[in-house]
Amino acid sequence: MATLTFMGAVTGVTGSMHLLETQGSRILLDCGLYQGGREEEAHNEEPFPFAVKSIDAVVLSHAHLDHSGRLPLLVKDGYRGPIYMTSATLDLIEVLLKDAASLQARDVEWENKRRRRAGKVELLPLYTLDDVEDVLSLCQGLEYGARIAVTDEVDLTLRDAGHILGSSIVELFTNESGQQRKLVFSGDLGNSQAALLRDPSVINEANVVLMESTYGDREHRSMQETLDEFENVITTASQNGGNILIPSFAVGRTQEIIFRLGELYQKGKLPQQLVCLDSPMAIAVTEIYHRYQNVYNQEDKQAIEGRSQTAEPSQKSLHSFLPTLRYTVSTEESMAVNRIASGAIIIAGSGMCNGGRIRHHLKHNLWRSQSHVVFVGYQANGTPGRILIDGATHIKMAGEDISVKAHIHTLGGFSAHASQGQLIDWFSNFSNPKPRLYLVHGEEAAKDTLKKALEANRWHAEIAALGQTITL
Ligand code: ZN
Repeated sequence: MATLTFMGAVTGVTGSMHLLETQGSRILLDCGLYQGGREEEAHNEEPFPFAVKSIDAVVLSHAHLDHSGRLPLLVKDGYRGPIYMTSATLDLIEVLLKDAASLQARDVEWENKRRRRAGKVELLPLYTLDDVEDVLSLCQGLEYGARIAVTDEVDLTLRDAGHILGSSIVELFTNESGQQRKLVFSGDLGNSQAALLRDPSVINEANVVLMESTYGDREHRSMQETLDEFENVITTASQNGGNILIPSFAVGRTQEIIFRLGELYQKGKLPQQLVCLDSPMAIAVTEIYHRYQNVYNQEDKQAIEGRSQTAEPSQKSLHSFLPTLRYTVSTEESMAVNRIASGAIIIAGSGMCNGGRIRHHLKHNLWRSQSHVVFVGYQANGTPGRILIDGATHIKMAGEDISVKAHIHTLGGFSAHASQGQLIDWFSNFSNPKPRLYLVHGEEAAKDTLKKALEANRWHAEIAALGQTITL
């Protein structure tokens, strides 16, 4: 009988990993990095809880590092089998894993300088660019909806999860001496109010469902309210002549913001003549989004194709939808942006302001009362982003103490995850009797609340436990 063991993203939202076993095959579902505090990240140093070389195949739900970021460790430990994902996910993990390896190399180098001076043993990075290249050589990109045989006993189909480009809901079909079972892993489910991507695919049949529960305890603010507020900030900033800074992560949110600015531009409601995307990684990811416009939702695709001012159909992209968008790739170009005193919208990472070029733009703009900073994503405790939202009057930024005079805004409606209502809707599509449901990928409170909300619909859910094995 096929079994499934929960091995990560069980007590929190990072380190996603599960193991599907049949009599003759072992398939790993996601291989995510633990992210967050030091305690959380220490799990990345632990050995895998299975014999790495016994794994026949890996299936990756999407590119985010909390789902993909331990793949280089798996390969470093000797894994040489196939790694299945969508083609868009393959393009994205190349950017994300290389960036992760470079960051690790830089952090370790910094720490080792200190250690050398103190006469301590030097550290090694978790993995290197060579390990990432080894991962990429094993990856196979699939189309949504294609059914392939992963082993003699297990078939795989990926469906659109609408969370980030290439994200998928994983369907696994097992067949052991005529006994057929089906497992559905939701991956991260998208927010149906978000721009560009489609709604998560509806699935009707399964024996067992694994569902994420990141926002199992809340609803998002309405998108219309959020967009109205965004438009207000843009108008006000234009009237008082300041720049607008938008700290944003490279994958998903940045492209959504570019699309929303494009909508305003097309309606003649974007007075600013310059939108700078000042992040090499976000630029690379936006170019990948351009290559996969076929997976955009119909409405937004039509908006881009219909209103783009370029004649060539092949050039109809976010770039032509928002003609004032400029990429600043080199450090020199980025520094030139620092000298713009007014009338620009600057999108740069990191999303929580704890790294990246946004710190330099904050240093040059926070002290000005005409400036506006717009937060479009979650700000974790202790990050400069959170400190600004909490109303700090001074902040240390890029090595200087900066007085905060800028207007700080938080737009609540952008999210890449399904809300409680959307999670319940997605599950409601499974035919009766409902499949056995296990909740993963959420904080305790989110999972408990979601479980109760499902029970109000008379649907039973179990909260998965770390290391727990269930039969399909
Ligand atoms: Zn994700």
